Amino acid sequence: RRSGLQRYGFHGLSYEYIASVLPDVAPEIAQGRVIVAHLGSGASLCALHKGKSLDSTLGFTALDGLCMGTRPGSLDPGVVLHLFQDLKLSAKEVETVLYKESGLLGISGISNDMRDLLGRSEPEARLAVDYFVYRAAKEIGALAAVLRGVDALVFTAGIGENSAEIRQRICEASAWLGITLDSQANARKGPRISTTQSQVSVWVIPTDEELMIARH
Ligand code: AMP
Repeated sequence: RRSGLQRYGFHGLSYEYIASVLPDVAPEIAQGRVIVAHLGSGASLCALHKGKSLDSTLGFTALDGLCMGTRPGSLDPGVVLHLFQDLKLSAKEVETVLYKESGLLGISGISNDMRDLLGRSEPEARLAVDYFVYRAAKEIGALAAVLRGVDALVFTAGIGENSAEIRQRICEASAWLGITLDSQANARKGPRISTTQSQVSVWVIPTDEELMIARH
């Protein structure tokens, strides 16, 4: 605080909307421990307990956490020093690399668009998608630790609502938490996409940030 920096978080409108509809859509988890995965061009996770946020993967800026369309997500700060000291980039150039040239676009060298990458066979496109899934599963594990267990996982935003393949891959990587996906429910977008035996229930809930803006 002394230097004026504050960990702030992003996608608040989306998480507020999801928290507001949970009591109707999924009453059995609304008071529980829920990880919401907002996966779009920007991507983040939020750990909700009884509808209140305990932590989020985005912080002081929109660069932290998950791999995004053009932003890298969590990065060793030494990489930024390397860009300045060894590659001699200016502050403006480093900013452009971090906000506009990293993430899915930077890794693939092809596109920042998940749908585009999923349709391609180039190894670089596959690597970008693999990394996206890897980071999401890793951060889900981290937020599970914050919540000391998880009752439910909710997918939302462009990728979370529309890509059954990415949902399936993230759930497979998170199976150790007690997640078993119902592949037919996943293909028709739920809203509940886990089996009835699954310890952790999994949901697809479309977000509505515009409605929250209008309400505010
Ligand atoms: P958003 O920022 O929430 O509008 O999400 C945009 C992202 O969602 C882009 O990466 C799109 O490629 C992705 N997306 C939208 N529809 C699909 C789909 N059917 N399959 C995979 N990705 C999708």
